[in-house]
Parts: sequence; C-alpha cells; structure tokens
Amino acid sequence: MNAPQPLQLHQPSSWLPAHSLTVALDDGSVTRTEHHSDAITGPIEYGWRAYQQHGRNAFTFGIGRLADSPLAGARRLFVCGYSHQWESFYLSSAGGVAYTFKHFGIPWVTLVGRAAQPSVLILRHDGNAATVTLEPIPDLESLWRDGYRRASDGAQLTGALAVQQAMLDRFGVAFPPKQVRALAVGPAAAVTWEGTIVSNPVEKGAITWVTEFCGRGGMGSTLFRDFNIAALLVGGAWEPAKESTKAYDPDFEARFGDRYVKVEQRTTVKYSFDPKTGTGGTFGSNYAAMGDKILSFHYQSVFAPKPERLAQMERFVRGHYWKQFQEETIANKQFEHCGEPCSVACKKMNGPHKKDYEPYHTLGPQIGIFDQRAAERVNDVADAMGFDAIQLGGTLGWLFEAITAGDFDPTELGLPRHTNCAFAASPPTRRSSTSSPTAPRTPTTPCARSTRSSGMSAPPRCAKGSALQRRPSTPATRTRGRATARFTSRTANAARSSPTNISFQGCSARCRSWANTTSSTATISFRRKRSGNGTSRG
Ligand code: SF4
Repeated sequence: MNAPQPLQLHQPSSWLPAHSLTVALDDGSVTRTEHHSDAITGPIEYGWRAYQQHGRNAFTFGIGRLADSPLAGARRLFVCGYSHQWESFYLSSAGGVAYTFKHFGIPWVTLVGRAAQPSVLILRHDGNAATVTLEPIPDLESLWRDGYRRASDGAQLTGALAVQQAMLDRFGVAFPPKQVRALAVGPAAAVTWEGTIVSNPVEKGAITWVTEFCGRGGMGSTLFRDFNIAALLVGGAWEPAKESTKAYDPDFEARFGDRYVKVEQRTTVKYSFDPKTGTGGTFGSNYAAMGDKILSFHYQSVFAPKPERLAQMERFVRGHYWKQFQEETIANKQFEHCGEPCSVACKKMNGPHKKDYEPYHTLGPQIGIFDQRAAERVNDVADAMGFDAIQLGGTLGWLFEAITAGDFDPTELGLPRHTNCAFAASPPTRRSSTSSPTAPRTPTTPCARSTRSSGMSAPPRCAKGSALQRRPSTPATRTRGRATARFTSRTANAARSSPTNISFQGCSARCRSWANTTSSTATISFRRKRSGNGTSRG
C-alpha cells in the first residue's frame, strides 16, 4: 500500500513575514528577529525552540502559515511554554484568534522576564509597524471580584470576561474596529495552576458570548503567575492580500476529489447540522450517537447494567437534557462561529451560553446534572473564573465520588457533609456489594458552611449565618453576566423542578470574595428523588 502523500497546498500570495518579536517584560526591550522563511514550520516549532533556548522563562504566542488564508479552522492561536500541571513543555490553542492576531503582522512572539505588576500586553500594528505596549491593570482584582458593567448594553461581566471588555474599552479604540481581540485570564490563574486563557470574538467593541479558550495545561496560570500578564490585546492594521478559497480548489480536487467548499461541507456535517440525526454540534451529535455508552456520575454509570444505562439515557438525556438543547438551540438555529468566517458555525448557542459537548458533559451528567439551566450556571462560573470547564468537571466528579464513597470527610474542606449530598443517597456503585458501603466518617467539626447536622430537612445556615434557601427557578433569560454574578455570590439557589429533580441549594448571603468562588460549585447539592424504575444510580 502506498503511503499517503503530503498535501501540497497552494502558497498564499501574501505570506506573513517570518519574523518574531522577543519582549522582555522586566525592562521593556523588544527584539525583532528575521527567520529564513523555511527555517520554522509554525507556531509549535517556534515555541519549542524558544523553550529550548529559555526554558521555563519563555512563553510564546504564534499563528500558523495558513492563518492569513481563507481556509476555515486554520486560524487558531497557539501558546507554548512551561505547564506547571504537566511539568514540562506544553502547548494549547484557541479557535479563531489567529484570524485577528494576523493583523499584528508578526506571526510569533516570545515573552521573557516578568512584568513588575499585573499588566495587559498590547500587540498592535499601527499601519506602519508592529508596536508593543505594556500597561498595568491596577484594578485587576476588582474586575475579577466585582465584575465590569458594559456601557453599551449594561451587561454585568465577571472574571476573565470582565477583564477582556475593560481592556477593549480602555485600549481598543486604537485598533481598527473589526481587527482587535482580547485575551484574558480569570482568578483561577491566580490561585491554581489550572487557569486558562479566555478569548471571545469582538463585535462593535463588545465581546460576544462565544467563549474560546487555550484550555489545557493551565497556560493561563503560567502566563499570569510566571510573567504577570493578565490580558492581551492583539490585532491592528496589517493586511494580507485577499484570497479566495478557489485558489485552493486544485489542491483539494487532487487530494480529496472535490472543491474545498464541498470537502468542508462533507467532512463537517456533524459539527454543522446533520439531517440524518436532526441535530448538530458536538453536544447534539455525540448524545444522538451515544446510546448505552453514557458516562455519568464520574463514570459510575459503567457499573450499571445496560438496561439501566439505556434508561438513564432515554429519560435524563434524550428525554430532557438533549431535548432542551434541540428545542432551544437547534430549532432556533442559534449557531455561531468562533471568530473566523466559517460555514460550519459549530458553536451552538442558547443566548449567552455556548453548548459544546465536552464541558456540558463533564460539568453535566458527570457531576449529576441533567438540566440545561443548571449546567449553564456551572459552566458560566467555570468559564468566567478562567477554569477549563472540562477539567473542572473531571475534578468535581472525582470529588463528589470520593465524598459519596466516604473516602474523606468533606467537612475538612468546608464542604457539606456526606449525608447532605444526595449524590450519596443512592448506594455507591464503585464498591462491590460485599464491601462496606460508604459510611461516612463522623465529622468532628460542624460543616464550615452549614450547621445542618444531617439530612436536608433542617433549615441550614451558612458560615455567615444566613439561611440556606430553596427558591423557585429564576428566569433563564437574564444575561450571562448576571447569572454568573448571582451564582458566584452563592445566590444560585433555584430549586429546580426538572424531570430529574436536580436542585441547587445556596445561601442568601452575597459572599463576594472571588477567592471563595473557586469552591462555590462545591456548595451545590444534588438531590434526585428516586422515582419510577430506579435508574437514578450514582
Ligand atoms: S466555527 Fe467551529 S468549525 Fe468553524 S473554524 Fe471555528 S471552531 Fe472550526
């Protein structure tokens, strides 16, 4: 069998110059380096070389050689550097950002040193040359903690979204309106090694709700804690020559037997809209094909017999969680793209909420949530705080399982007692029936957040003495910023009456310390009333 031949792509007429900048954050010096056009393949090789040269003291941004082409999906921004999570070199990328970054006119940037104070790095091409500016953000913690109200529509933004919008309002006016994009870290970058770099497309000076991430590896934590950079503003006036996808058709016809546009449509049906399944995007398509292979309650579902797994899929996912998505997102064609022109428009939205499968599954069924309203709240908090929602879902699932199994005393972490988590109301499934189920250790101290001793019946109080409440659901039409702000201040207290009877519980006090928000999700109680045939395993 012949080995596949590498795809020989049409060479763009205006190649980004193979230049790089090295920015010394401590003394402000900028060094420009010209590379032989074939010396570096792309942003990952560039990042690897910088890592070899500077080790943990370098952090790179880069875009690929097709970033100024009309090919969809080729406009990702790559960051490279040391990951404290991985304890080695790591790379991560965010969709669509290179579509704007290319207007800086320099494809690769290395940061070395450390800014004296938390700062925004502004990479802008002013029409004549690429310029680099470092501006302090003296109110960074306030932006994270208190949020930022956008003047244009009054939206109250929090965390990394607040920082993005504030930087756009302060410094974005110097950029061409359609050629600027912000990236920012959230408080997760300051207090964990799991922080992401968050970036939303910009329309008329306002960030949209299509939140993109350099999500893996905690690269936001590296950027903030090692380099003291909390945000970037990128773009400018450098213009590539306009090209049509037709220039690439000969390559695609030779390789794939059809024009580029046709190949794109054919290979991305799952992400766009598949008439065969009547859905689209990763959330819709994955659940449509999952059947009994459902993974829920931190993978505990794998121990359930097939009929139970199928019943859970039909009742909780297809019958409610996925059905909500179909009715709200697919039926109303709430489809967006990641910031670059793309016919696929894989970003499936419900108002301000972006519904990708991975975060809505891990911060969804994997932690016992089968309701879009509940999943939206948890995902919005994770996004705004600058966590990787997928990773956070894995961590919380592990935590809830460990509590359920009685592996440690949750009150030692200031979490509700084991008996307050109805996640634990069902018999644990991870252990064999002969093993002792999960008798929780008797806490020696009261729960830090609740004086409740057992069960859910006694009215509990939080550490500040405010009564924990169960309230009717609040309208889902509020802005994402408001939803996030309410949740992070632990007023996400709607007692949900979904078919799965999953409910939230929070206290009425507005605990406004952002440092607490990292644990706010742990105040969620999962209560699922057993009904019907007992499919509520977990
Ligand atoms: S909208 Fe989706 S499919 Fe299109 S380029 Fe962006 S991430 Fe890729």
